This record gives sequence, C-alpha cells and structure tokens, in this order.
Amino acid sequence: MKLNRKLKMGMVGGGPGAFIGEVHRKASRLDGGIELVAGAFDINPRKSRQMGRELGLNPRRVYRNYEEMIERELKLPDGERIDFVSVTTPNNWHFPIARDFLNAGFHVMCEKPMTFNVKEAKDLRKLVKKSRRVFGLMHNYTGYPMVKLARDLVRGGELGKVRKIVVQYPQGWLATPLERTGQMQAAWRTDPKQSGGAGCMGDIGTHAENLSEYITGLKITHICADLTIFVKGRRLDDDGNCLLRFNNGARGILHASQISIGEENNLAIWVYGEDKSLEWHQEHPNYLYVKVPDGPVQVWRRGNDYVGAKSPAAGRATRLPSGHPEAFFEAFANVYCNFADTLRARLTRKKPDKLVLDFPNVDDGLRGMLFIETVLAGTKSRQKWTAFKKA
Ligand code: NAD
Repeated sequence: MKLNRKLKMGMVGGGPGAFIGEVHRKASRLDGGIELVAGAFDINPRKSRQMGRELGLNPRRVYRNYEEMIERELKLPDGERIDFVSVTTPNNWHFPIARDFLNAGFHVMCEKPMTFNVKEAKDLRKLVKKSRRVFGLMHNYTGYPMVKLARDLVRGGELGKVRKIVVQYPQGWLATPLERTGQMQAAWRTDPKQSGGAGCMGDIGTHAENLSEYITGLKITHICADLTIFVKGRRLDDDGNCLLRFNNGARGILHASQISIGEENNLAIWVYGEDKSLEWHQEHPNYLYVKVPDGPVQVWRRGNDYVGAKSPAAGRATRLPSGHPEAFFEAFANVYCNFADTLRARLTRKKPDKLVLDFPNVDDGLRGMLFIETVLAGTKSRQKWTAFKKA
C-alpha cells in the first residue's frame, strides 16, 4: 500500500512574531511531502486567526486553541484531517498539548525540552509507547549531515576509544535584562512558570547534552554542575558549567551560556579518542575536522561522495552538491524527513528501515529532562558528583 497524498500537518504555536514555528513551517515543506492545513498558532485567538490569514489557510481550520483543534479535526474524514501536530509553544505547554493529541490518535512532533519536568516526561514516554503513535523531538542539531558523519565515524571506531568530549553552547543575547523590555522570546525563557526548573541549561544545554550522546553513543553517568544567574533580578540560570563522566569512563566538559557577549549560536563539539579526534561547529556546519597525531588536519566537506560513502545517513541528509552550503533549515527538514517517512511507513503498515528511524524521539526527550534535573540537583549539592537521574 502506498500513501498517495501529502502528510497533513497541524501546528500549535508559531503565531505572529514567534521564532521557531516559522522555521518548522519552512523546513517541513522543503521536500514537498508535508502540507500545513490547520493550526492554533497563538495563545491569543485573534493572533491565531491573523497567522492563519497570513499563511492563506482555510479559516475553518484555524482554531482559537488546541482543544478546539483536536475536537474539530477529529470530525473530519480520515485523509482530510491532520495526520500529526507540531508543538512549537513555550515549554510549559508541550506536555498537555502532546498528551491530548496523542490521546486523540494523532502523531506528534514536539519542540525541546520535551516537557516541563521529569514526571511529565515519564508520563509522555509511557503514553507514546502505549499509543503506538510516532513521536519526534526537535533536536535539530542531529539533523546535520556532518553530525551524522561524526556519529558514524565515532561509532564505527575511527577515533578509537573515546576519552574526552568537550561541548559548548554559548550565546550572548541575554547578557542584559532583555526580558524587562517585553521581548517575547526572552520573557518566557526567564520565567520559571513557562520555562521550567532551568533557564539556559534547559533551553540550550539540553541540545549540547543530546549532541554529545548522539555522536558518541555514550551516556552521561555523573555531572558536577555549577549554574549561575548573572543578570540581577533574573530567576533562572543564564550560564552553566558542567564536568561530565560517561559510561565508558570518558570525561567531558559541557558549558552553556546566554550571557557570553559576542557569541551568537556557537554550539560546537570536540570528541577526543585514543587514535584520532574530531571537531564540529554549528556556525560552520558543512565542515567536519578530523585530527590525527602526526599529520595535517583532515577537512571533510559536506556534499562530496566520500561523505555519503562513509555515512549513508549523512548522504541521505544532503540535498545540494558540494560547495552549496546547507544549514539550519535543512537540518530541521532532515528531522522532518525521517519523522515523515516513519509516519508514512506506519500509515501504510510497512516497517521503516534504520536510516529512516534516525530522528530524536521520546527517549531522547526523557534523557534531556533527566539531564536538567541532574544539573539542578548537582548545583545545589555540596558533593562533587551527582549521579545522572534514572529513567
Ligand atoms: P516564541 O515566544 O517565539 O513563540 C511561541 C509561540 O507559541 C507564540 O506565538 C505564542 O503565542 C504561542 N503559544 C504559547 N502558548 C500557546 C498555546 N497554549 N497555544 C497556542 N499557541 C501558544 O518561542 P520560540 O522561541 O519559538 O520557542 C518555542 C519553543 O521552541 C520552545 O519550547 C523552545 O525551547 C523551542 N525552540 C527550539 C529551538 C531549536 O533549535 N530546536 C529554537 C528555538 C526555540
């Protein structure tokens, strides 16, 4: 059986002036297999309607809130109603929205951090397993071809045993109390009721944690954490530094910051093995550096046949030939592409292959929430090491 139509997507969040909802909209349509047909785009129903108009959607499918969207979409015939929803709201809404759509039988793509706390993450994991719906989590940095190549090199033994991982995620945009100016993205990120127990560490530290485990296949077992609030009056961390221990004995450093003036979105990772090491920078994502003890640095460049030959996953995640840069939108599109192919397989009762299943899921989301709780506990603790919380 073949699915002879596009997948139908709904969106919650992504209203006028929102950041990531628009990225999801652009990325999801990059390959032509997904169409946005419905949404509850804003916490304010008037703005949701405005967004629907701007997007040229059928006004009957632009809803006042997500509850109305579930109720009314369920009344539409199969094939016309949405297949899945993308949740692009602030963190406090992720769980109730994902839960209610799953319970109504829809598949879900959700922004990170997956939930507001570990309890919700565990409940969501149970629900996803029970519902047998497809659940994707937007850890978009795993969507880069050169990250997939890095993973395949490390896991294929090219570096030898991994000894050390350094991962950083500094930004500088919250170096001043921007939230007090009413800036929308800053306002909810610094509010514990909307962001969760952690600020910067939840917002971007979770990407760094996820990237380190995705590339190496290792698991963090212990953290020595130090979170700080530098901006006066702010209620959540805006800077954090962690030492890490991994389950193979490797050691690591993870730092995330939103007060590092001059840094834009400087996510980068270094993995040091017994034989070789590698280095990748999100702001220059088309290059992967591999270093050997006694020779020049190798630069692997996206789009070349040798990349796809070494890493079929990287080849599959590449749309343009070498020298034609791909970046942020394409990485999101790669997460959507695998999520959508898995969903198509589910809808046509086929088994998706391993390459297709390569997208972040509910287990990664739970790891992220456990990471946040471990870092929060470690910061309060007088002990040097805090064991990574158990699932
Ligand atoms: P934003 O403030 O720019 O946009 C949030 C939107 O959600 C707004 O339009 C708001 O009105 C709407 N909204 C809030 N509650 C709603 C509800 N109950 N129903 C419908 N709409 C609602 O926020 P953002 O920066 O786009 O972040 C949104 C989410 O995406 C966060 O969870 C954030 O962590 C995540 N994010 C991920 C990445 C990434 O790289 N993967 C990057 C940025 C943000």
